Amino acid sequence: MSRVVVIGGGAAGMMAAVQAAENGHAVTLLEKNEKLGKKLFITGKGRCNLTNNCEVEELLQAVCVNRRFLYSAFYGFSSQDTMDFFEQSGLRIKTERGNRVFPVSDHSSDVIAALAQRLKQGGVKVHLHTEVQEILTECAKEEKEEDLTEKNAMQKQPGQIAVSGPRQKSEEKTVASGAQREPDQKVMPGAWQGTGQATVSETRVQQKNGSKKNGEGETHHMRACGVRTADGTVYPADAVIVATGGLSYRSTGSTGDGYRFAREAGHTVTELSPSLVPMETADGWAEQLQGLSLRNVEVTICDGKKELYREFGEMLFTHYGVSGPLILTASTVVQKQLRRHPLELFINLKPALREEQLDARILREFEANRNKYLKNILGALYPAKLVPVMLKRCDIPEDRVVHDVSREERKKLVAMTREFPLTLTALRDYNEAIVTRGGVSTREVNPATMESKLTEGLYFAGEVLDLDAVTGGFNLQIAWATGCAAGRGVQL
Ligand SMILES: Cc1cc2nc3c(=O)[nH]c(=O)nc-3n(C[C@H](O)[C@H](O)[C@H](O)COP(=O)(O)OP(=O)(O)OC[C@H]3O[C@@H](n4cnc5c(N)ncnc54)[C@H](O)[C@@H]3O)c2cc1C
Repeated sequence: MSRVVVIGGGAAGMMAAVQAAENGHAVTLLEKNEKLGKKLFITGKGRCNLTNNCEVEELLQAVCVNRRFLYSAFYGFSSQDTMDFFEQSGLRIKTERGNRVFPVSDHSSDVIAALAQRLKQGGVKVHLHTEVQEILTECAKEEKEEDLTEKNAMQKQPGQIAVSGPRQKSEEKTVASGAQREPDQKVMPGAWQGTGQATVSETRVQQKNGSKKNGEGETHHMRACGVRTADGTVYPADAVIVATGGLSYRSTGSTGDGYRFAREAGHTVTELSPSLVPMETADGWAEQLQGLSLRNVEVTICDGKKELYREFGEMLFTHYGVSGPLILTASTVVQKQLRRHPLELFINLKPALREEQLDARILREFEANRNKYLKNILGALYPAKLVPVMLKRCDIPEDRVVHDVSREERKKLVAMTREFPLTLTALRDYNEAIVTRGGVSTREVNPATMESKLTEGLYFAGEVLDLDAVTGGFNLQIAWATGCAAGRGVQL
């Protein structure tokens, strides 16, 4: 049995804690908020789209970056496993359009309650109002290669395989533990108090590759040995799981602490940016249309002549620009370019009609209403809020009667319907982003166990990792699957 400390009581942290506890570990979950799952509570507009009911290959397709890293975690804990997990926890679930899975109650609080129940059953000690400030590490000595060979030869019995390799290490602590007591520092029961000389901060200094050799040919690996909280309390541990989330919706507790922990442990944190995020537009057209939601439209985003994104679905105008499912998904694709310069967005308001069909459709409308004002008949083609904007953008006077509409004006209307243009200028910030793009580099993490390749006993799960996906329950599936891999990855 190992002592496991999980930092963060969000989706990934709660799942990791449940899995580690059910694997027989003594688990403590530290959450800085006054309650668990604050972000989970607001997911899916309060309904929590907890996963996507699809095959693993489809899950992988929905992942935007480092897809291959998730192969093992998704096969280890698929969306079927997520559904089974919650059903076994007493949550009734349903699958809606687009394979999106929700609780039957439509209440995200029921998802949190199910997890809280499993934490309780597993005997996980939950400490709320507990903010972790640093992860404590110590230096673990590797035995000399020749010593290992000798020892293995002595210990090896017929039919047994000798254990060796970089993970075999001496139990002896060569440098002081990071859990060494400092003035005014509480140590939770079971704390290991080192007798060596180095201070906590010294033990945190390590090489980028997480190991170093001394003059005698011994290799020192760093390993996590606990955490220290904001009030100075030390929680000693054999394994520490970082599940602190990203940077979006800071009010839910995601303030990026995990990135700092990772950097302090020598990890690379890739460039961070808001993702699944609305975008701002120039020219004020969007502002005039704010609140208008468009269904069954096609959105295309271009960087000069290069098409970056084209998709069919729903979008929404806001006071600053555009939002809605199509736009949020587009942000995952175009964000890099948009951070450099403005991009062109085109909305096809009638994507089911070819140009000639659309022209014929408009002509039919004109024939039937020759003596009416144009503005009064366009409601048959567009949402009412769009009509004055269409006229303005086509330079057609508001008082134009249908039989006076010129061929050129009609062609302009057709063109504007097929390519309603807007200029995208910026992404909105983290406060409106569903997820954070970037995070702890997946190259430095074992994809099967989520353990750091640099610091033994240190694990990462959820959004803190350099992983994100499109909407549809996929981001929570990443949290469950990586949380599960980390919780199960801790060795006894
Ligand atoms: C508005 C909104 C709607 C969303 N809807 C969906 C949806 O329907 N479906 C979907 O799949 N995804 C959705 N997402 C994304 C999804 O919520 C996240 O991907 C997921 O919650 C990430 O889980 P996590 O456990 O990694 O991080 P989080 O859920 O952010 O949890 C991290 C936890 O760590 C705690 N913490 C941080 N630092 C410390 C510290 N130093 N000490 C102690 N505790 C700390 C935080 O307080 C927090 O509770 C939505 C996101 C938002 C913002």
